[in-house]
Amino acid sequence: MSIRSISRIKNLSGKRVLVRVDFNVPLKGGKVADDTRLLAHLPTIAFLVKKKAKVILVSHIGRPGGKQEPSLSLQPVAKRLSELLKTEVILLPFGIGADTQKKVHALGAGRVALMENIRFYPGEEADDEVFARELSALADIFVLDGFAVAHRAGASITGIARYLPAYAGLLLAKEIRGLSKVTTKSKNPLVAIIGGAKTETKIPIIKNLLPKADSILVGGGIVNTYLAARGYGVGKSLVDTEYKEQALAYCKKRKVILPTDVVVGTADGNNFRVVKIEKKPHEICRKNEGIYDIGPQTIELFSRYIQKAKTLVWNGAMGVFEVEPFSVGTLAVAGMVAEQSKKKICFGVIGGGETLQSMEIVGGLKDIDLVSTGGGAMLEFLAGKRLPGIAVLAQVLPIVH
Ligand code: ADP
Ligand code: MG
Repeated sequence: MSIRSISRIKNLSGKRVLVRVDFNVPLKGGKVADDTRLLAHLPTIAFLVKKKAKVILVSHIGRPGGKQEPSLSLQPVAKRLSELLKTEVILLPFGIGADTQKKVHALGAGRVALMENIRFYPGEEADDEVFARELSALADIFVLDGFAVAHRAGASITGIARYLPAYAGLLLAKEIRGLSKVTTKSKNPLVAIIGGAKTETKIPIIKNLLPKADSILVGGGIVNTYLAARGYGVGKSLVDTEYKEQALAYCKKRKVILPTDVVVGTADGNNFRVVKIEKKPHEICRKNEGIYDIGPQTIELFSRYIQKAKTLVWNGAMGVFEVEPFSVGTLAVAGMVAEQSKKKICFGVIGGGETLQSMEIVGGLKDIDLVSTGGGAMLEFLAGKRLPGIAVLAQVLPIVH
């Protein structure tokens, strides 16, 4: 896959560059409550500013459903972004007609504008051709920088790329480069750690990584589902009944390393105990208990694999880390992943909301080579799926400047 990044564009001076970003940040009391997603795009924006482009940022926030919804205005984002960039970010009023075109043309070189919430327009999520073409009239060049939206079709993601020279921004390029080090260019041993709650999104990753990986360590809901399918008594554990067959098939593979002990207890964490998993199915939990974490022996077992990894990828909590004492397994894994990723010989990737949260708790984010901003897009990338936003960039013919 060859994707052209904006760093390859020769002359950006005075060019109108429309950049699709992911500024879908939480708002609280009319302010940005967490600016992580803004920070992730700063390198791309700063690069374009330095090259004297006219930067037009496009994002959605929330789900206004194709209607103007004042509470989902990007005004607070424009304000916070202005502070971060130390330069005024002009919020363009709703509309993509002649008025907006004029405003964009009048932008000074190296200035930054932000369009209003792109999901105020019904044509966005419908990936409407006419809307995409109107949008393209605002710019000379299209840049996709929001990896987190690359798994969706949309006028500002895929549609517009059909009408303009299209490039990957620095964030998107970094994500593709880093994740490709897991999926196609991995240094072995490749060790994947897969946990979390949603079995249906994790099984495709195990399936895709199995041929390349040396070991896949699993925790969380998949393990419960597998144990239930095998006939172990799992009490109130989270089980994905629909995926029993698949969990059974994949967890039986030689490369898939399962917990040898688990922590069971009541959901509130007031009662808990460690239970060894015997070869023959047995009652792991009582009726009022569930499996909420991996056990100490499993942590030790996983550490032996993690310590040997030259490529490491982790998604999904090992247990219900939000409730004590069930955080132990997840935080231990977070610490071990950080320690290994810190080493020069190992390339470490993590992604997913709760996974990032737990890495933050142990203070390991700085040691990870790629902290993916992708969420669902990352899961699909790791599962080997075609991401529409990336596919459309790969298809466009090279443009000579
Ligand atoms: P991420 O957001 O990191 O991709 P997921 O969304 O897949 O991860 O899952 C994270 C959630 O999975 C956590 O909130 C955690 O509480 C839950 N989880 C992990 N193991 C279990 C378990 N054994 N039982 C119930 N929930 C679990
Ligand atoms: Mg999650």
